[in-house]
Amino acid sequence: MRVGALRERHPGENRVAMTPASAQDIRKLGHECHVEAGAGEHAGFSDDAYREAGVTVHPDPASLVQASDVVVKVRPPEPEEIALLREGQTLIAFFYPGQNPELLEAARATGATVIAMDMVPRISRAQKMDALSSMANIAGYRAVIEAGANFGRFFTGQVTAAGKVPPAQVLVIGAGVAGLAAIGTATSLGAVVHAFDVRPEVAEQIESMGASFVFLEFEPTQDGAATGGYAAPSSPEFREKQLAKFRELAPNMDIVITTALIPGRPAPVLWTADMVRMMKPGSVIVDLAAERGGNCEVTVPDEKFVTENGVTIVGYTDFPSRMAAQASTLYSTNIRHMLTDLTPGKDGQIVQNMEDDVIRGATVANAGAVTWPPPPPKIA
Ligand code: NAD
Repeated sequence: MRVGALRERHPGENRVAMTPASAQDIRKLGHECHVEAGAGEHAGFSDDAYREAGVTVHPDPASLVQASDVVVKVRPPEPEEIALLREGQTLIAFFYPGQNPELLEAARATGATVIAMDMVPRISRAQKMDALSSMANIAGYRAVIEAGANFGRFFTGQVTAAGKVPPAQVLVIGAGVAGLAAIGTATSLGAVVHAFDVRPEVAEQIESMGASFVFLEFEPTQDGAATGGYAAPSSPEFREKQLAKFRELAPNMDIVITTALIPGRPAPVLWTADMVRMMKPGSVIVDLAAERGGNCEVTVPDEKFVTENGVTIVGYTDFPSRMAAQASTLYSTNIRHMLTDLTPGKDGQIVQNMEDDVIRGATVANAGAVTWPPPPPKIA
């Protein structure tokens, strides 16, 4: 099969779905590799680097799609990219079918098969294809780096000839994939890290990373904190306790990184305007939930600003793209694993096995039919 990577057209998107290294691995699966000119430019991969890896470079999207049986990209396709697809072709990309019904219908109408990387079931067997986790890991890491770049002091405490420096106090709210990456990064830089999550089972993970779990005096049975490993909305009583605890912490926190999300819902507001006002000048808030409305009441999505009391609030929504080389390397590896599962015979022939939980779960359109939402996975 011929696998082709489109150049991303979304403004500011620096990632690419195939790197020269992933192309070499994909070729070992028996596929040919193609790329649109300039596709890797913003991630540090030149057209020549692709050519050296045996990839054919195409001048425009039309010729790339024409030459490909499988088209790979990062962001959901633009309407003009959908218009290039044809029956029998496969598109692999983030797609967010729940948020993009018109795009899904347009893709279905082409007769192409669409595999949504955001719909890969989060079961153990599919971890190597879990692009949401790959990107969340990068976002968590980058949130700490961004906080550090906007914070005028060290993370680690130091005793120097010029005086004693206290360590930075960091609070991470939400300890999913991104939150745990933020905790690991902040502790490795020497900060004193505190973390909170509604799922009490993560306390052990938080503590094993050298952070302290912020305990709430609340009977866990009183709150429906989790369903199927994911957080559920908190009860009003639980939320009040949580906010009271955060108000207690706010004056002493130098950096707050918020990552709290509930699947399919707007982000819960957990860091209110009065908490921001309680923080010291020079403190930094990085809100990784900005795209879904933000965990901090005053976050402005895609913006960074300083409040009247001197707190920097970062609401960027493109952290993985800000680390495009790393993000492209991990995402293209997730794609390569997806291609491996789609090519069980190792003969370059795609088998769209709709009996396979992972392939079925991620396939949102197939042969002229919408196949989303999928039935629940059989394997846990
Ligand atoms: P997410 O991005 O959906 O949410 C981030 C975190 O916010 C979660 O830990 C959630 O509990 C927390 N949260 C929600 N409301 C909160 C509140 N009011 N206060 C504080 N925290 C709050 O999470 P994720 O990174 O996608 O991970 C969610 C689950 O999926 C976890 O159980 C994780 O272990 C699991 N997971 C499994 C796999 C796999 O098996 N392949 C891969 C990734 C994640």
